[in-house]
Amino acid sequence: MNIHEYQSKEILRNYGVKVPNGIVAFSVDEAVEAAEKLGTSVSVVKAQIHAGGRGKAGGVKVAKNLDEVRTYADEILGKVLVTPQTGPEGKEVKRLYIEQGCDIKKEYYLGLVLDRASSRVVMMASEEGGMDIEEVAATNPEKIFKEAIDPVVGLMPYQARRLAFNINIPEESISQAVKFMMGLYNVYVEKDCSIAEINPLVVTGDGDVMALDAKLNIEDNALFRQKDVGELRDLDEEDEKEIEASKYDLSYIALDGNIGCMVNGAGLAMATMDIIKHYGGDPANFLDVGGGATAEKVTEAFKIILSDPNVKGIFVNIFGGIMKCDVIAEGVVQATKEVGLEIPLVVRLEGTNVDLGKKILDESGLNITSADSMADGAQKIVSLLK
Ligand code: ADP
Ligand code: MG
Repeated sequence: MNIHEYQSKEILRNYGVKVPNGIVAFSVDEAVEAAEKLGTSVSVVKAQIHAGGRGKAGGVKVAKNLDEVRTYADEILGKVLVTPQTGPEGKEVKRLYIEQGCDIKKEYYLGLVLDRASSRVVMMASEEGGMDIEEVAATNPEKIFKEAIDPVVGLMPYQARRLAFNINIPEESISQAVKFMMGLYNVYVEKDCSIAEINPLVVTGDGDVMALDAKLNIEDNALFRQKDVGELRDLDEEDEKEIEASKYDLSYIALDGNIGCMVNGAGLAMATMDIIKHYGGDPANFLDVGGGATAEKVTEAFKIILSDPNVKGIFVNIFGGIMKCDVIAEGVVQATKEVGLEIPLVVRLEGTNVDLGKKILDESGLNITSADSMADGAQKIVSLLK
């Protein structure tokens, strides 16, 4: 789960990790009020969306007085920001963060991520912080320093010091940087993060070390024990279809193609998307209805797929193991009757009671093309759309 910058910073603050003062605002008046309350001569108006790259897209503005705060807040609030992380359709800004202006001496990068190859949490740091860390990683990977962390003892102070020296934090700020890193690691572990990224981490004119940006991703599977973090969920930032899918325990991810896919099992769903691509089609979604899908779940899954206006055809690819093919077939028939289907539908069933399942589909009188194999089904739906 993603949370906003201001929410991440609140968590960091609670762990003794230094961040500038700031106040969230939902309207232009609230933004001006917030700046007044902060009382600093310079404040920064920051768009709060679940995507990075806001600075370059005009979503971060430095204001030298309250009039400028009003102007920028008015400009950014309601604006659709397009950044490399939002996709081409962009994201509408509905919240602002008004933050104390910071006297930046130098910007660095600091991140924590789980490295699956070494099965360890790795802390990464670079002197080339700020807005273009992805480019640094691509062109100058040697400028990114890493420390793999032993889960038993956690981040050791010597590792934090080594990182701080490697990225040339000024000597007088080293101990603050170490404290910052240790605090960030505690947040990562205790809040069940999958990513914690501070870009930029800055050293200020006074030698203070603080986070000017903060991105925490919380592992979805840990939300049952992170109730307070769960409350920070912002549904405005999520795809409506994905929210609906999560209510029915369906794993759904919207994509840009036009072939809606309904599959049971994540592995089969991936393979189905691959084979559609292989035959020249483009999947509109990843959808795993799960091993034990009921007719009701199948119906909901259908509705979600059809609510996507880009979907021009549907490919159902089900392996009846725990789930019997006749039950799936009944679900498909019920769903198509309920939601009214006007686009091609190809169904491939395999497994328990497959013959009965096919019979139900054939006798339904609905316009359903049945397929004998995954490849056959993929080819059929692709050619039906041509
Ligand atoms: P994004 O990564 O989405 O572009 P950031 O929060 O990193 O957004 O802000 C972009 C840039 O704006 C930072 O690299 C920094 O130079 C500047 N900036 C952000 N917050 C402040 C602040 N409080 N004071 C001064 N400059 C800031
Ligand atoms: Mg940033």
